[in-house]
Amino acid sequence: MLIRTTKGEKGKEGKKYVVKGLRGWLNHAMMALAKEMGVEVCHTSEKTESQKGEPLLPEGFHAAGKCLENGEECIKHRLMGSFGKQSKLKFEPVVITSKACKGKEDEEIQQMHIATEVRNALAFHTKKAIQDFGERYFAGTFTLRIEFRTKLEAEELGFLLKSLLYAPEIGLGAAVNNGAGKMKILKVALQEVVRERTFDQKGRVVERERVRNLWKEMQEGLKAWPKKVSA
Ligand SMILES: [Zn+2]
Repeated sequence: MLIRTTKGEKGKEGKKYVVKGLRGWLNHAMMALAKEMGVEVCHTSEKTESQKGEPLLPEGFHAAGKCLENGEECIKHRLMGSFGKQSKLKFEPVVITSKACKGKEDEEIQQMHIATEVRNALAFHTKKAIQDFGERYFAGTFTLRIEFRTKLEAEELGFLLKSLLYAPEIGLGAAVNNGAGKMKILKVALQEVVRERTFDQKGRVVERERVRNLWKEMQEGLKAWPKKVSA
């Protein structure tokens, strides 16, 4: 779930981790939500059957990207894409560091509680460690930014927002079956961000961000998906 990135100059102080699996988490939330609503979407798998010809995909799904080939792109594919088409959503990496670390960190880095569980596997006869790895767990609140590469249609936005609301039903990471990986979403904001870069009088680059909250668009999106079928 976590991978270590760079080591700081002062040892422990600078250990940073990237939270893995957030895109997959949303992907699975989208699948589960669509299934519940009776809407067919892409499965994560690109194969429809095994080598022995047994069906691999559960009912209500098509192979990833198949809908685009057939000219009937599903709502999930419009957002997440597949091998043949880039996703409209760009997930910014969530970089975290331990709360125990002192010192000022980069504002892009979020502080969390991080615990390490060290595990050794010993060879039976020699008692020599054949594998030496630590698992890291984290707890706390973090912000995930998802940037839109292109403007989303109202129903695409609605499907994304509803999938985010659904996502806590699905745990994060491999330890879900052991009771870990509990996730809660506290707040979702849709914002228009305009970035401006200029020079100051000494040539230093000054970056300014103008942020506008789009609360009305969020509500409109929620209403736009699923589409009401008129009788
Ligand atoms: Zn699809």
